[in-house]
Amino acid sequence: MRSRLSRLPTLALLAIITAGALMPATGVARNADAPNGRAPHTYKPAVKPNTGAEGAAEAKDDNEDDGPATGPVDRRILSIGRGDTLMDLLATANVPANDAHDAVAALREVYNPRRLQVGQRVTVLFEPRRSGARKFVGFEFAPDPLRSVSIARKGDTGFTSSQTEKPVTRKPVAAQGVIRSSLFEAGAQAGVPISVMMAFIQNFSYDVDFQRDLQPGDRFEILYEKLVTADGTQAGEGELLYASLTLSGDDMPIYRFKTRDGRVDYYNGDGESIRRALLRTPIDGARITSGFGMRHHPILGFSKMHKGVDFGAPTGTPIYAAGRGTIEIAERSSSYGNYVRIRHNTEISTAYAHMSRFAKSIQRGARVDQGDIIGYVGTTGRSTGPHLHYEVLKAGHQVNPRSVDLPTGEKLEGRELQAFQQARRSIEKMFEESRSGMQLARTPAPASAEEKGCNKASSC
Ligand SMILES: [Zn+2]
Repeated sequence: MRSRLSRLPTLALLAIITAGALMPATGVARNADAPNGRAPHTYKPAVKPNTGAEGAAEAKDDNEDDGPATGPVDRRILSIGRGDTLMDLLATANVPANDAHDAVAALREVYNPRRLQVGQRVTVLFEPRRSGARKFVGFEFAPDPLRSVSIARKGDTGFTSSQTEKPVTRKPVAAQGVIRSSLFEAGAQAGVPISVMMAFIQNFSYDVDFQRDLQPGDRFEILYEKLVTADGTQAGEGELLYASLTLSGDDMPIYRFKTRDGRVDYYNGDGESIRRALLRTPIDGARITSGFGMRHHPILGFSKMHKGVDFGAPTGTPIYAAGRGTIEIAERSSSYGNYVRIRHNTEISTAYAHMSRFAKSIQRGARVDQGDIIGYVGTTGRSTGPHLHYEVLKAGHQVNPRSVDLPTGEKLEGRELQAFQQARRSIEKMFEESRSGMQLARTPAPASAEEKGCNKASSC
């Protein structure tokens, strides 16, 4: 087998492969924004030219009956089925088992075949032979919109693998809207991707009580990046650059900034870190049940009768450690149900009640970081429905969480502050440009469209 292969005119074979067009698997794009059903783009597959071609060029094609025939490489596109391996797929394409084995071994150099997803399209390449038979020469696939992986026959010594990544540009996208039911829904209506909205809510969870602070009519603004390839394919989201909440008329802007020592964080307009020692919303804020207009199911605030604050959310919603500390109590009681208390320093503790269950490794003495999942919302103990009952304790006594504000004290100064103010101005300019572009691009729409929020990415 090997000796016969060694006589093949490898250079000609490579030229045919290189001339072939790679079919990108648009159907398996990971980004919901990615266009579906559009014509595939033509670009050259990544076949390394340095595949020992010099030695192979000396090989002669003695067998007139079985040389490569002229004509395009035969492309067979198959999808990975449920429970199938890549070997199964290659067998379905009638690739000889030893070739398939060698090709998959070459793939492992650049990509773990176990990471192939069900539905992944794989293009299997065959070279037509003069005898009328077809010869397996490699396969290609695009695991995501930015990457393509290519396996090609390499002379007489098996297969070679390569991987190419498409360069992306970061396109700033502005969006804004009015909050009617929840910030998360307002973001969705404005076309803001979920991952960006999650980052937005996470960054405001230090300072905003998402259950009580938002009122109908409050507004938000956001500037984030979209990743776009040269051929216009959208390839997911980049960074959240700027966000602002306007709560009862007060603007709360935050800006992304990278300090000289390379740390990336968010700061308010004065260059103060948005971080606090305790989260104001120690729960996934995207899943909070709106308190608006719930006359019969009040979401309780702090009072003499109710020494904590309640967050309404579906059973199973993650609960976060409000701050770094040590688990003091993790046990079940008749009134609090599954209950966790975290000691943050000699004075301050926080407590979480009615959990459906504790998170793994949450037990007395365990250390937790701010934002670690400690348990999940439930309705254990004396509770009328799924919610988190959250308490802040000062020297062992419950206090109004609102009375405890523990800023980190981190503030940009001197040249760092100047650099931040410059970055802030350029972000604000980007937001205005992106927003005016979005208004120009807007087609005439009912007046309510603006209130719902619009951006360039969505038709309003
Ligand atoms: Zn409560």
